[in-house]
Amino acid sequence: MSFLSRHIGPDADDMAVMLRTVGVASLDELIDRAVPESIRVRDALDLPEPLDEPEALAALRSIAARNTVMRQMIGQGYHDTVTPAAVRRNILENPGFYTSYTPYQPEISQGRLELLLTFQNAVIDLTGLEVANASLLDESSAVAEAVLMMRRANRRSKSLRVLVDSRSLPQTLAVLTGRTRAAGIELVMADLGDPDAAARAVSEGDVFGVVVAQIGADGDVTDPTAVIDAAHEAGALVTVSTDLLALTMLRSPGELGADIAVGSAQRFGVPLFFGGPHAAFMATRKGTERSLPGRIVGVSTDSSGAPAYRLALQTREQHIRREKATSNICTAQALLAIVAAAYAVHHGPVALRALAERLHGLATKLAAGLRERGIDVAHERFFDTVTFSAPGRADGIVAAAADRGINLRRIDQDTVGVSFGEPHTQRDVQDVLTAVSEACGARISDSGEAASADALPDEWLRTDEYMSHPVFHTHRSETSLMRWLRELSDKDLALDRTMIPLGSCTMKLNAAAEMEPISWPEFASIHPLAPADQTRGWTELIEQLQTWLAEITGYAAVSVQPNAGSQGELAGLLAIRRYQLARGEGQRKTILIPSSAHGTNAASAVLADLKVVVVATAADGTIDQADLAAKIEAVGDELAGIMVTYPSTHGVYDTDITEVCAAVHDAGGQVYVDGANLNALMGLARPGRFGGDVSHLNLHKTFCIPHGGGGPGVGPVAVAEHLVPYLPGNPADADLDEHGAGFPVAQAPYGSAGVLPITWMYIAMTGAQGLTESTRTAVLGANYISRALADVFPTLYTGDGGLVAHECILDLRPMTKASGVTAEDVCKRLVDFGFHAPTLAFPVAGTLMVEPTESEGLEEQDRFIAAMRTIHAEMQEIADGTVSLEDSVIRNAPHTAQVLTADEWQRAYPRSQAAYPVASLRRVKYWPPVGRIDNAAGDRNLVCECPPIEAFDAAYNTAAVAQEETR
Ligand SMILES: *Cc1c(COP(=O)(O)O)cnc(C)c1O
Repeated sequence: MSFLSRHIGPDADDMAVMLRTVGVASLDELIDRAVPESIRVRDALDLPEPLDEPEALAALRSIAARNTVMRQMIGQGYHDTVTPAAVRRNILENPGFYTSYTPYQPEISQGRLELLLTFQNAVIDLTGLEVANASLLDESSAVAEAVLMMRRANRRSKSLRVLVDSRSLPQTLAVLTGRTRAAGIELVMADLGDPDAAARAVSEGDVFGVVVAQIGADGDVTDPTAVIDAAHEAGALVTVSTDLLALTMLRSPGELGADIAVGSAQRFGVPLFFGGPHAAFMATRKGTERSLPGRIVGVSTDSSGAPAYRLALQTREQHIRREKATSNICTAQALLAIVAAAYAVHHGPVALRALAERLHGLATKLAAGLRERGIDVAHERFFDTVTFSAPGRADGIVAAAADRGINLRRIDQDTVGVSFGEPHTQRDVQDVLTAVSEACGARISDSGEAASADALPDEWLRTDEYMSHPVFHTHRSETSLMRWLRELSDKDLALDRTMIPLGSCTMKLNAAAEMEPISWPEFASIHPLAPADQTRGWTELIEQLQTWLAEITGYAAVSVQPNAGSQGELAGLLAIRRYQLARGEGQRKTILIPSSAHGTNAASAVLADLKVVVVATAADGTIDQADLAAKIEAVGDELAGIMVTYPSTHGVYDTDITEVCAAVHDAGGQVYVDGANLNALMGLARPGRFGGDVSHLNLHKTFCIPHGGGGPGVGPVAVAEHLVPYLPGNPADADLDEHGAGFPVAQAPYGSAGVLPITWMYIAMTGAQGLTESTRTAVLGANYISRALADVFPTLYTGDGGLVAHECILDLRPMTKASGVTAEDVCKRLVDFGFHAPTLAFPVAGTLMVEPTESEGLEEQDRFIAAMRTIHAEMQEIADGTVSLEDSVIRNAPHTAQVLTADEWQRAYPRSQAAYPVASLRRVKYWPPVGRIDNAAGDRNLVCECPPIEAFDAAYNTAAVAQEETR
């Protein structure tokens, strides 16, 4: 059997049933009628012939073999680490974790929410601050977010200048330069490692914020207290960039007075992955949490009063705030934050500190050995990274180390950096020293006993307790850890148990064969800045993938650097902006965005310093042509372009897309086609050919990268020929003074490269025909569900011929009006059926957007249809007045086992109706761990650390006592 027939859910018999329901004779007829002829491509995509699973794995093995696994001591933001096998197997390789969606539906997400809360707890403790978010995309973009946050939060200063430590990672300086320039913020750089110079720079700078590195890119540790005090004196806020492992030894940013701390959690067990995905962290003080970007997990209570987790302050999300959004981080790095949390739990504070001390000890030994050989160590104060000078010898030293299987950091021709990570030992110290002696022609001394200077003075070391919550102390045995992780994944609904019919999110199969290669050491253990001759496999894979994606989309070139769809949007808009600036059209600063657009579109536009003008949608869901013409006219020569999603967020192939593109082009604007819905286009139409100048794709939707509970993501940006020079540049090799092309948007040259093998495998195993077949089947599924539910929940928008694209919006509003049952109630009731909810209230309030994808077979789609029909009947009873809304099974959903097994039962409906509304549930049943969660209470009183265990027991005891008393 071909891979394709396993990727696609419905078989031939299923399809016949589905086609009959839709009312078409064949799949060809359906596609001919649904997809407008004006955009249709008839010739097959130029992609390699599909391989079967073993062939594709073998082909990928031979690509992987062109990478060289070394001991990675380059540092510069990435450290060799050890992913505990128990964490790899039970999380990274466990579909219960990696196939879950972002936890917007908290009742079915308690497991991953608890792990994200544990991540926040570790970050809060180690940074010494009070509030942390549940991860950001990478360290460099997190620093950029911190700068924007300081600007928002600093009410005392009107300045638009920020002072940044030149000791920051070079990649961070590159990303910051592009982001601040786009945001109209002036970036001033100074060496903040020198306290006097730093204090001067701060007091003379008139800045709203300061970014200081507690540990510089070269490994030099400083005490930032003086800078922080001077900054506060001058009315500026302070961000400290730091390292979680070092913070087990060093005084925390919070104790030193910082307002914000940022950094990467990669070395907490997340493989190097050739640059990502890795979770960045950010923490701040109480009082500024509303300015904090990203998602925050908070604690609230459920309908029975027990503690329950949820995403807090969700109203800050770009979906709701659109162009007023404070940041644009849709996809975070949930899976990697979860790995980091489990790593912290696995080791606990004592072992983490011991590891930190061991690495510090190795660095100290190396420094001593170097000094003994007469070599000048650059910094007196360091943690795990030593920089030394060897005039004219850097290349020789790096080469001699490479001969021993070690990668060092070549800073320039005279300077070398050595950074220690978890797997490294005394042997690595010896090997580096030998390499140095060899390259410098010095006598090799074996004494290795030179008195080691105290590289970290006592007064810099922390003395306070951290990670004291029991969670960091109770899972020391692997049995305990394994069972805890199993308990948590059992609480959640992921694709391994149910269809996740989320419109716009394309939750399709993440096949095991696609996933497996990401843990191969030849991919996972490669440093992003390793020399080119060691990474030929990676570059081959990435170049192939970029070529394939360019072919699929009809564009000239693709960059995989953006590590989320939102970052792809930003990269694409910056490309447009820079292209127009280069043409002397700097006045083009207004972008048109239809009212139905995804919230990230507007937020990205603001980050690219563009003004948003909203275009109305017509009654049928398409762009209102008259309004478009009027807006183009009104904006005049300030028109930068338009951002359109195709098919539209209404799930419909608008027939007039080519006219929309032409109208914008005629007015001198560029067309951005949001390609997140490519699952409706692959093989059928190409945005680069029907009028787009630039698009982003979401590999974590259309191309099988799992959602990981809210990240990783990859949002490649694809551009037409004229925009190619403006694709994102290399963050490690950026020309900061250069005004034209290519500012990077992510920290690593290829962003979240580590998950690209997944997409490579999907395309290699399906080929041109298989991709087209995926699309066609996805369109069939959406039309099937739309038709099968038409008499109860009509589809809001359809194209010509009454057909939808790959998703459909079910209109619940008439039933809501009649019964009072909201679309949200329906989502909660679906939990009792073991379903993840569809997309709620986007893009139209009071509706549910359903996208089955090609991977869901007929049986699962029918199970969903049956659930929706049953719920409709329950709504009808309320509408008819037979049942009151407040007492209804829907309003009280979801039902926990605890509620249903209580000795007393006084509800207006039988327990069996709550638990087993359809017979198949008696065979397999998902029990939600909590009842409906109180959202308002969680926002009023923000708690984003793990609550004490006793809080749970207390709540359960109270419930039990209450029950006793009613007896
Ligand atoms: C998902 C989506 C995005 C944003 O992608 P993220 O990776 O979540 O940032 C943008 N536009 C549309 C239409 C989407 O569906």
